[in-house]
Amino acid sequence: MSDAPLLEVRQLVKEFHVRTGLLGGTTGVVRAVDGVSFTIRRGETLGLVGESGCGKTTTGRCILQLERPTSGAILFEGRDLTALDETALRAFRRRIQVIFQDPYSSLNPRMTVGQILAEPLGVHGIVPDRHARAARVQDLLRHVGLLPQHAHRYPHQLSGGQRQRVGIARALAMEPALIICDEPVSALDVSIQAQIINLLEDLQAEFGLTYLFIAHDLSVVRHISDRVAVMYLGRIVELADRKSLYDEPLHPYTRALLSAVPIPDPELEASRERTVLRGEVPSPLHPPSGCVFHPRCPVAVARCREEVPELREIKPGHWAACFLA
Ligand code: SF4
Repeated sequence: MSDAPLLEVRQLVKEFHVRTGLLGGTTGVVRAVDGVSFTIRRGETLGLVGESGCGKTTTGRCILQLERPTSGAILFEGRDLTALDETALRAFRRRIQVIFQDPYSSLNPRMTVGQILAEPLGVHGIVPDRHARAARVQDLLRHVGLLPQHAHRYPHQLSGGQRQRVGIARALAMEPALIICDEPVSALDVSIQAQIINLLEDLQAEFGLTYLFIAHDLSVVRHISDRVAVMYLGRIVELADRKSLYDEPLHPYTRALLSAVPIPDPELEASRERTVLRGEVPSPLHPPSGCVFHPRCPVAVARCREEVPELREIKPGHWAACFLA
């Protein structure tokens, strides 16, 4: 197996043109993703975390080629997806699948679970024979912890957790190398969240899958991620292996996100210092000057208003974009 990363995102930029002003007469440019770079090795899980509107989902959509990037490169198995035309892209699309937050909206309500899973197997010629396809559907159901009879149910007859299992089975049917998990447990009860995360881990071990796991909350990705990238207003502000990021966060934003995660031990919880973030995330239409985090940063200095901190490797494998790190 080669040491080359499965996925390499280089200086990814995605801009959207939006109408602004009272009557929508003027146009502005929102830079939803602003120079994001990272790699994911085969078999690894990278957690991508940030508040809503930070650009994490747009990053995922650019990798899936559901959005064409404004600039930058997305190398998947060594090929730059941004340089491929539709015909060449088709071969790659199958290898990168997505699991959505709300599988209900992406599952056809008029199809049974069996039909939902059989369709891509037939359309993409993965299992051309009809009988073999039915057997493969049963196999997929078993892998995601569903019963044979679930093949005859419609999405509305399933619980949220079961629907997410169908969403996972559908992604798995395509025999992908990379799965983009876009907030896959955010809509589920806490008790079900752990089951789905455990299932994703089991499938990763069994099929050698690689995950980009997108979440708005650091507690969700802690268990499953090998490394974690934290995004703020379109940029990665910190990137490190799981242990370093949770034990020794270097960026004030990561520290604030972590201090919002409750600790199960009540004594520890009562005694620890909390970093409460001031204000809201600024509008990406008018991002702050200098370090985009400076209006909310509890330790900002004068320089932060004028200069943009680059993402630097502070310790081996631990990157942060902060002058004080
Ligand atoms: Fe805070 Fe300045 Fe560091 Fe930005 S560069 S996170 S404003 S201390």
